[in-house]
Amino acid sequence: MFEDLRDLYQEVIFDHNRNPRNFYVMENYDRMVEGFNPLCGDRLTLFLKMDGNTITDASFQGSGCAISTASVSLMTEIIKGKTQAEAEDLFHTFHKITTGKSEDLQLEAVGKLAVLAGVREYPARVKCATLAWHTLDAALKNEQTSISTE
Ligand code: ZN
Repeated sequence: MFEDLRDLYQEVIFDHNRNPRNFYVMENYDRMVEGFNPLCGDRLTLFLKMDGNTITDASFQGSGCAISTASVSLMTEIIKGKTQAEAEDLFHTFHKITTGKSEDLQLEAVGKLAVLAGVREYPARVKCATLAWHTLDAALKNEQTSISTE
């Protein structure tokens, strides 16, 4: 990765960590799931408002490291207006870019989420980046109210 690109990515992560977007307890939510990453101690509660299969609003509360906070902040921005199927596609693509299992990074397919691709170089931090998405997955499946990455 080029140094200037890496700096840009870090800047986005710092910005979202300092000023998390959609950071509030939602009233009248349709889905609420708590996510926990015991490896790092990241905790978050994700709230979704649904209209049929479409996510019309998303917010979160909790505390975690910079990567987990930036990841959930970016995620709540990007999933608004997405259908359940579109959000699940994004989760799979995001999982591939952060775990480095894909040769083709598909960075343009995930837009701003690409800033988190750098965690693939730090395996211990991958769960910090994917916690938000595992929590979203559970919220969309609507089967459990809390998840843990371990
Ligand atoms: Zn973390």
